[in-house]
Amino acid sequence: MNDYRLIVGLETHIELATKQKMFCGCSADYFQQTPNSHTCPVCLGLPGALPVPNLEAIRAVILIGLALNCKINLESFFERKHYFYPDLPKGYQISQYLKPFCFDGYLEVGDKKVRITRVHLEEDTGKLLHGAQLKDKAGSYLDFNRSGVPLVEIVTEPDIDSPELASEYLKKLQLVVQYLGVSDCDMEKGSMRCEPNISITKKPTGLPDYKVEVKNINSFRFVKKSIEYEIDRQKAILETGSLPAQETRRYVESTGSTESMRSKEEAHDYRYFPEPDIPPFHFDTKFLDEIKKELSDKELPDARLNSLITIHKLRIEDANLLTEEKTLGDLFFKTVQKNIDANKLGTFIVNKKNILRDKSPQDILSMFNDVHKKEDVDPQELMNAVQTVISANSQAVEDYKKGKQQSLQFLLGQTMKALGKKVDAQKVIQELKNKIGYTGS
Ligand code: ZN
Ligand code: MN
Repeated sequence: MNDYRLIVGLETHIELATKQKMFCGCSADYFQQTPNSHTCPVCLGLPGALPVPNLEAIRAVILIGLALNCKINLESFFERKHYFYPDLPKGYQISQYLKPFCFDGYLEVGDKKVRITRVHLEEDTGKLLHGAQLKDKAGSYLDFNRSGVPLVEIVTEPDIDSPELASEYLKKLQLVVQYLGVSDCDMEKGSMRCEPNISITKKPTGLPDYKVEVKNINSFRFVKKSIEYEIDRQKAILETGSLPAQETRRYVESTGSTESMRSKEEAHDYRYFPEPDIPPFHFDTKFLDEIKKELSDKELPDARLNSLITIHKLRIEDANLLTEEKTLGDLFFKTVQKNIDANKLGTFIVNKKNILRDKSPQDILSMFNDVHKKEDVDPQELMNAVQTVISANSQAVEDYKKGKQQSLQFLLGQTMKALGKKVDAQKVIQELKNKIGYTGS
């Protein structure tokens, strides 16, 4: 970057896993369903159809806002955001502009704080399918199953100053929302999508005079790559003395680059006005307190990580993984008991995660006990086995005497093998040391 500063703000859209859509009774679970099988006059935008807001979605967006340390607008309303596109049958999207449900929060990412400007609720659009997405058909097709699915938009302040922080922020946001249980945030399925606003400047403080928005990104890696690409592209333009165009670009997976889509819209282009078919909301503090209570009953990723490390004494690597893979961490908590070594159980679950994923806590516990159970051994039997192993492995014994710790581990393994059972490793090591007569470590 040399003398340039990177300035990135992120807009993230997350589809809520509610039973019904945002403004009608259609099922919101549309993934891989027959096209246009989850539709009705409301989500098809037919004349005379009236929207009824989904309370489950409103509670979920406030829950997310609270988890992101936001203030909540007790007076709020929906607005119409107008633009034309074939996947938007009404010609406007019901969204929020002046009074988002949540505003002014932050998310801690490592030792950084990314400020959250707003968290609002809106509806998703339908889906246009063309080209390679259609097997035998020519042309373009519309599927309105996604039309009207509740969509949360989370907007940050331009606090992100590296491509790494952008992807770290998104990972943390994904984890928090997954822990809240209101969305699966699956980027591949499109239930979490993000758009970085990127610019660079030599000014020591303040914002540059332009920004570039990149759309069409569906993985954390591509977010990072698109920012890296934009840094180089924008720098080359600035070096010639001109200013990069204020525009919307799309990320092109095959080349890892971005290409221009259109000049960037401003808020006034959308002709926002209050949605006349839905009265404004007046929430009372009792309603808010209920959601605060719900939040306090949930475990968030930071709290889990902390309890794995400080209470259960897990290795940092294991604790991180059991936090990042929530279902795997859940298995740990269902399996852990007072009388077993939680640290060893954590490592066991992490190492064997691919086998254990579908197992019950009882199965995991008995597999763990099988591996870690220590059988009794007769002292004479142990002495004999150690003697045999030492006689047969004089080279390893010599290496160990010279300080090679692996050789002791090797002799330990050989002794276990000779015994034909799993006994307390410390006992065997003590016996080996006695026999070898080595007094070092
Ligand atoms: Zn519908
Ligand atoms: Mn939006």
